[in-house]
Amino acid sequence: MESTLTARDRVGVQDFVLLENYTSEAAFIENLRRRFGENLIYTYIGSVLVSVNPNKNLEIYSKAHMERYRGVSFYEISPHIYAVSDNTYRAMRTERRDHCILISGESGAGKTEASKKILQYYATTCPVTDNMSTLRDRLLQSNPVLEAFGNAKTLRNDNSSRFGKYMDVQFDFRGAPIGGHILNYLLEKSRVVHQNHGERNFHIFYQLLEGGEQDLLSKLGLERNAQKYQYLVKGCCPRVSSINDKNDWKTVRKALTVIGFHEDEDLLNIIASVLHLGNTQFGEGENGENQITTEPQLKYVSKVGTMNEQYPPPPNTHTTHTHACTPPHTFEQFCINYCNEKLQQLFIELTLKSEQEEYEAEGITWELVKYFDNKIICDLVEEKHKGLISILDEECLRPGEPSDISFLEKLEDTLGGHAHFVTHKLANGKTRKVVSREEFKLIHYAGEVNYSVNGELANQSGISVICQSDSQVLSQCFHREEVTDQKRPETAATQFKNSLAKLIEILRSKEPSYVRCIKPNDAKQSGRFDEALVRHQVKYLGLMENLRVRRAGFAYRRHYETFLQRYKSLCPGTWPNWQGRLADGVATLVQHLGYHPEEYKLGKTKIFIRFPKTLFSTEDALEA
Ligand code: ATP
Ligand code: MG
Repeated sequence: MESTLTARDRVGVQDFVLLENYTSEAAFIENLRRRFGENLIYTYIGSVLVSVNPNKNLEIYSKAHMERYRGVSFYEISPHIYAVSDNTYRAMRTERRDHCILISGESGAGKTEASKKILQYYATTCPVTDNMSTLRDRLLQSNPVLEAFGNAKTLRNDNSSRFGKYMDVQFDFRGAPIGGHILNYLLEKSRVVHQNHGERNFHIFYQLLEGGEQDLLSKLGLERNAQKYQYLVKGCCPRVSSINDKNDWKTVRKALTVIGFHEDEDLLNIIASVLHLGNTQFGEGENGENQITTEPQLKYVSKVGTMNEQYPPPPNTHTTHTHACTPPHTFEQFCINYCNEKLQQLFIELTLKSEQEEYEAEGITWELVKYFDNKIICDLVEEKHKGLISILDEECLRPGEPSDISFLEKLEDTLGGHAHFVTHKLANGKTRKVVSREEFKLIHYAGEVNYSVNGELANQSGISVICQSDSQVLSQCFHREEVTDQKRPETAATQFKNSLAKLIEILRSKEPSYVRCIKPNDAKQSGRFDEALVRHQVKYLGLMENLRVRRAGFAYRRHYETFLQRYKSLCPGTWPNWQGRLADGVATLVQHLGYHPEEYKLGKTKIFIRFPKTLFSTEDALEA
């Protein structure tokens, strides 16, 4: 195959394993920076794709680009998300094994955009029969709906996903997509009632108010003015320059139809009633009891549920106040960090494992690499009886008055002294200032995080009311039996732990590919590369470690056939065509090129090359 790499594509190295000084973080970042400067946002670490958010539209996602990546191997063409998509797809078809692509990175790093690019690639390049075009449209159209209900403007990202997403696409024997599932995790529900300054509620509320037809708004009792709604004014930012709520509303309505959602009215009632609930006020009744003082709001809310008498009012208070103004608690952040910890564990396990397996399969000996195994932190969180979640469960479910402080004391009793758990108490009875009395600190693999125990012990009373609603949508979301039948209800932490365990199990059963996204600056600006910020992400994504593992044995490996094809012109013995065994052809070729025995090894199907410079000189010879 002709090389399709141009001189510009070769800025820096397109695979970090080719870095001469591969243990140097500075060299790693310099390579990223140089490539980013040329709009080369993708670089590999072996088969892992590192992507730096360009914050501007690049001309690299056209249909012609998609075509260019079909059936081509990683090294022949500049790194791209399409190469990962294509390789995964082809491997799935030839090996007949399930594959998964794991996309990680911090908020605003480009995960959602990457997942959309992958889906678009499959939607465009996979074979589709006529009756399957509906399915393809549904796959693509699920995104605007998910984003409307699950994304919001935050300080870090104008379109931040406030939930985790696992999406699978099933293909038939011809490689045509025939179905799919989407699982969602950990929607940041607290955002509905509270937004930090400069942030918004979920997009859907603004879309409805901006784009909804006048008739519709009147029917729902809504005014076309976000400022009127308590749940939309907290962040003081109803409009965002990069977002067009009115147009997005049209897209979402259309998408709802395409994905087959016919309970439109029901759904819109629910959205509207959330806004009305936010404006509901409680005041003092004749006998000093709490009562709702905003009748008009109640009318619209009770359209959805049977809430008027049964909803437990907030505790008695003598000032009129709006209901539910819970401060944002850190429980969600804890769950997100725990999830990242588990995914990192899987990453370490699988990259090391596959590396080891490859050497074994090829009959090549190598030495084990030492790496930091974060299992110790996962155990700290999830271990039965002794882990943080078990202790939280016990505290939530035990009879008597559980309190945040008694929870913290239990944690101290059980986990005090653990290398990754810190509170203000020191073993010698003294206190330390870095952690307050209502906090504990976890030393995650990615860094230290303090968690507040305030509000950790949640209650579930609201859910039982919602379960009694006759709204079809609500009854599908909340199952009455689940709430009433449970003797010992699961806490939110355990529910999350269990769903995460299921997710990891799903991922472990598949062949993984990785996309590691990096955000080059905090200002959502194009062309700006903030080295300190990037260094931090390189560190906690474990990229240097990943590279070290990849390089521990051999920097570079290639199937005999591919290697011969590329370099056969450099040796009269193999040019124009080698007729014998492929391994012998490669042996002839490397002998002619003067490779030293310690520089390479020949496996069963691949050549392994230890140092990048060996390969560079061969590449140079090709260009000469
Ligand atoms: P979060 O965790 O907050 O959901 P994220 O990692 O999903 O963040 P994205 O929403 O994918 O981040 O990206 C943030 C923004 O960055 C996008 O809205 C887009 O403007 C820009 N962006 C990301 N990737 C690309 C890309 N490949 N090309 C152009 N712009 C991009
Ligand atoms: Mg996202």
